[in-house]
Amino acid sequence: MLRVVQCWDDGVEDDLRLIEILRRHRATATFNLNPGLHDATRGHGWSFRGLKQVRRLARDELVSAYAGFTIANHTVTHPRPLDIPLEQWRREVEDGRKQLQDLFGQPILGFAYPFGTNDEATADVVRAAGHIYGRTTGKATPCLPAADLARWAPDCHFLAPDFWERLAAAKASPAGVFYFWGHSYELVTEEDWAAFDAKLARLAADPDMRWAELTDVVSGL
Ligand SMILES: [Zn+2]
Repeated sequence: MLRVVQCWDDGVEDDLRLIEILRRHRATATFNLNPGLHDATRGHGWSFRGLKQVRRLARDELVSAYAGFTIANHTVTHPRPLDIPLEQWRREVEDGRKQLQDLFGQPILGFAYPFGTNDEATADVVRAAGHIYGRTTGKATPCLPAADLARWAPDCHFLAPDFWERLAAAKASPAGVFYFWGHSYELVTEEDWAAFDAKLARLAADPDMRWAELTDVVSGL
């Protein structure tokens, strides 16, 4: 039985629509958040490739928006890990975890590197802060076994052209785990949203798979 895990970064408005789709397909997921970037109103926005304006959710709507899903740490303010002093990185990692635990009232065990970059020293900080894994943006099929869970590459991005081939490879692997990730704001057009909905429907209809929690998968290793 293939266990399928997924995670989504940055805590943006489009997560609300994504969550509707996830709920419809009874999918579990982890959301990687930056507690320092949510204000009283939606903001901290940017343009996604000139195609759409992206905004982060307001602080007061986070707990209800992500009810029923798992939260993981994405640092306080989303710095580039290798571009700041290690002590500053440590504060970003430790304070991010603490702030999210306080806000959501759940243990924060997962971590995702902003921009995906890392090295041994930044990964040591992630591990020491109490995280059981640190997700990168690299690719590895199968995602398990991982050489170092503090620098863990998923199978692929959700828009990877070889998504189904990677899933098939994960299915054939001893660990039997398929891990994809992404940002909901990468869904731009109605066709994009429909394609994502169809992708989840195809996954959910597969009798040889089940949705799983990242923390359960890692804890069971
Ligand atoms: Zn991010």
